[in-house]
Amino acid sequence: RVPDDKDPLSTVAPYACQRRTSITHHNAQITDALDILAKAAAFQGSEVRSLAFTRAASVLKSLPYKLQSVEEAKNLVWCGGHCQAVIQEILEDGVCHEAEALMTSEQYRCMELLTGIYGVGVRTAERWYKEGVRNLSDLENPNIKLNSDQKAGLAHYTDLNQPVTREDAERVEHMVKDTLYRFVPDLKITMTGGFLRGKQQGHDVDFLITHPDEEALSGLLKKAVDWINRQGLLLYHTMKARSHVHAYKRSTHMDGHETCYAIFALPHPDTSNSESEVPGGDLTAPAARAWRAVRVDLVVAPYNEYPFALLGWTGSKHFERELRRFSWNEKKLSLNSHGLYDMEKNCSIPATSEEEIFSLLGLQYVPPPYRNA
Ligand code: ATP
Ligand code: MN
Ligand code: MN
Repeated sequence: RVPDDKDPLSTVAPYACQRRTSITHHNAQITDALDILAKAAAFQGSEVRSLAFTRAASVLKSLPYKLQSVEEAKNLVWCGGHCQAVIQEILEDGVCHEAEALMTSEQYRCMELLTGIYGVGVRTAERWYKEGVRNLSDLENPNIKLNSDQKAGLAHYTDLNQPVTREDAERVEHMVKDTLYRFVPDLKITMTGGFLRGKQQGHDVDFLITHPDEEALSGLLKKAVDWINRQGLLLYHTMKARSHVHAYKRSTHMDGHETCYAIFALPHPDTSNSESEVPGGDLTAPAARAWRAVRVDLVVAPYNEYPFALLGWTGSKHFERELRRFSWNEKKLSLNSHGLYDMEKNCSIPATSEEEIFSLLGLQYVPPPYRNA
């Protein structure tokens, strides 16, 4: 219920990074529908419409009460006519017919299937859809060329579309730390991404690695990956070398940190003490296997960039996008996973913690569990 003494406009700030957004909230039925509309718009190549639905959903995720009428939504930032129609429909009928229709449409279902392959983005999926691909077996057509990421993604499709549980993530963490500490015992290793935000499951497990001595980080990822490979637990990986990222590059989806995008064979708990089998990488039935495939991201950041890398890799994606938009629009500062830059003075602004970055931006600190925007 909206408190009578408070104007909703003054209670919901326009940028997601100015709000607290928990994983669980009071308007899930509505935000589920809006999230589907956002995804469908993205599948149709309408980034602008997609972002509009995402923003509306994000505002409702941060509301401290359950909407009782569409009237209550009329004063909310980013909740325009289309969003209000969705809210009204759900409050009256309990379903959003537009979202239902989209979800069951052939295009949505195929795009969902194809973008569920590791290495396949919306553009590739759309091209394949136009070429007549409707299911995974259609990808065996020799006219469809798969790159190596996509081949690995297809080979491990079932496992990689199985949510990674927190228990899985903790076992991956054990494996990653055990491996990395062999080479440098006093590394700082943090599990980032959705699990740091308190999610109970995810699509992968993300790690950020740093050390005050830059020498300690040099060649580390390669050694770690070689080690995991020798244990027979590496199914696939690609290395991205460190690259120079320009200060003005504020894109959310790529940074210049040295990164390993990997697929590990995670032994099942009951078999982890026995000799691990070497996974052939082939598609034996999951029950017959002693392991499951898991996507793992390993990111190495120089010590002075660590707080920025941590902020950038904790997510959510929408929270990151909003932080960067806020920095630029409201403070004329450019923020990315490497640093904060004053473009007018042409200098970077250092920080030693996430708290300090929020403070430099004039924002109240938002702890990771409240960044589920
Ligand atoms: P999930 O549980 O589905 O994995 P997640 O929030 O952990 O959810 P990820 O895709 O793993 O999602 O991304 C985590 C964070 O890292 C996001 O905020 C994203 O912006 C950032 N990120 C992901 N990939 C990259 C990349 N290649 N370069 C820079 N940042 C990235
Ligand atoms: Mn993740
Ligand atoms: Mn990731």
